[in-house]
Amino acid sequence: MVAEDQAHNECTRDVVALGELLIDFTPHGVSDQGQLLFERNPGGAPANVLAALAKLQCRTSFIGAVGEDSFGYYLKDVLTLSKIGTEGLVFTKEAGTTLAFVHLAADGDRSFSFYRQPGADYMLREEDVNLELIRSASIFHYGSISMTHEPSRTATLSAAAYAKSRGLLISYDPNLRLSLWENEQTAKDRMTEGLEYADVVKLSEEELLFLTGTSELELGTKQLTEQYPSIGLLLVTLGPGGSYCRAGNITASHGGFCVEVQDTTGAGDAFFAGILFTLLGKLGHAQKEWTMQELRSMLAFANAMGALATTGKGAIPSMPTIQEVRTLAGADIAD
Ligand code: ADP
Repeated sequence: MVAEDQAHNECTRDVVALGELLIDFTPHGVSDQGQLLFERNPGGAPANVLAALAKLQCRTSFIGAVGEDSFGYYLKDVLTLSKIGTEGLVFTKEAGTTLAFVHLAADGDRSFSFYRQPGADYMLREEDVNLELIRSASIFHYGSISMTHEPSRTATLSAAAYAKSRGLLISYDPNLRLSLWENEQTAKDRMTEGLEYADVVKLSEEELLFLTGTSELELGTKQLTEQYPSIGLLLVTLGPGGSYCRAGNITASHGGFCVEVQDTTGAGDAFFAGILFTLLGKLGHAQKEWTMQELRSMLAFANAMGALATTGKGAIPSMPTIQEVRTLAGADIAD
């Protein structure tokens, strides 16, 4: 117990995240020759979460793999410029940096083509994972995209198990991207496997439906938290409608903030960062029951993060500052 307390006091990083880091090529107009142009953007949910936390002045570090190519070096620079630690970033020779092209349909709907057969992001091996980095953190965050293929699937699950054994708070984002999985059942099985270690989980309504068979918030969240009692906090994001959460038998919701939306990429990651930021402020306090008001206040903060992230183009460049969040959320975040 004494050793555990010491470990907590010695935390030099707030949040360490493990997962995919890739390039998103997003449509960017047409050339003089009439050809579609694509803009090179950094992508990957765990890195977006860290970028949002770093913008809130948290100490963060990333664990993952990129290719030994110009895209990989660019992504390392992006992390550095975002003030995210790169000690855990691995350059692999086994595959090129993963690329995703975003296609915009006439009705504004997005679809993705992934160049990931293979992709460096899932070449992270169990032995590549910097355990010292995990030991130095208060929260370990991961998602399901790094569990689609080996070797990163084993690397992700073993890192989560290690973080849990060291007493870190474990945060999990089971991202549903069916095109990346062999089939629907494998997606469901693996996404569910990730729930085993998690203390905090964030889902969209679609992911709640996929994992529980119901999009009814009360019912679905109750089902999941009863099945996985270690999930102390289960969040569901509702786009412009805001969010909902359950902590044991206490539930709360908070409406979304009205903003001028430019690009919703990264809204969910900003939202999750807002939740982790709030939790960081409560770590070290004796575990206690949440009140509905505390949950609502946390949702308000996270909703403001998500809303502000939609007001600019791209995920990382539009992560808000703490002042912007406080201004938008106002009295709703006063405890
Ligand atoms: P994801 O990006 O994972 O699909 P959502 O679209 O639900 O997640 O967005 C996450 C959060 O960001 C929402 O819970 C909400 O608080 C905020 N948000 C998203 N879209 C909007 C919007 N159009 N207007 C205001 N807030 C939004």
